Amino acid sequence: MARYHDSVCRLCRREGTKLFLKGTRCYTKKCSVERRPSPPGQHGVRRRKMSDFGTHLREKQKFRRVYSVMERQFKDYFAIARSRPGVTGENLLRLLELRLDNAVYRMGFATSRPMARQLVGHGHFAVNGVPTDIPSYQLRAGDRVEVVESSRSLEPFKNARSQMGAAPRPEWLAVDPEHLSATIAALPRRDQMPLELNEQLVVEYYSR
Ligand code: SF4
Repeated sequence: MARYHDSVCRLCRREGTKLFLKGTRCYTKKCSVERRPSPPGQHGVRRRKMSDFGTHLREKQKFRRVYSVMERQFKDYFAIARSRPGVTGENLLRLLELRLDNAVYRMGFATSRPMARQLVGHGHFAVNGVPTDIPSYQLRAGDRVEVVESSRSLEPFKNARSQMGAAPRPEWLAVDPEHLSATIAALPRRDQMPLELNEQLVVEYYSR
């Protein structure tokens, strides 16, 4: 599947907000959004009034970029979210939060979602004891994610052990730093997904 290979900081500048795609750098003064807050490109500094359509489109793009999901796959997520009972926007967010790569990021094994995606792709994790290298793998309540035995002595995971316990983790995750594992304690509710994203705009975008 085609992937985005240009500078990820351009994506943040395009959306006019921090998407936290580069780990610790995002929290320093080196962050491109702080240094150059205008959209990228020759005409980026020109101020343009955003149309209604543009506002909805940009929010949808922001979602895709935060979770590194391609257009087609994002559309599929939306179709699933709409077909499920409950609030479509919340369903959509839940589907994205329960991706394996996002859960690995939330657990504290990686400082950004792209890094988590790479760790998953390299086969460092198992779900319910089965090695799984699919970043989009959809987790369910009760699933247990752990670092595979052969990867536990690697540097990122040695560091993760201390970080996992130190920082607060989402309530829907029961983290076990000692065993480098975490369990999906419950399906996340909207108030447990504190994201600066407006899912209602995405629902409206696809309801045009
Ligand atoms: Fe975005 Fe992080 Fe780059 Fe800042 S440093 S522009 S938050 S990816």
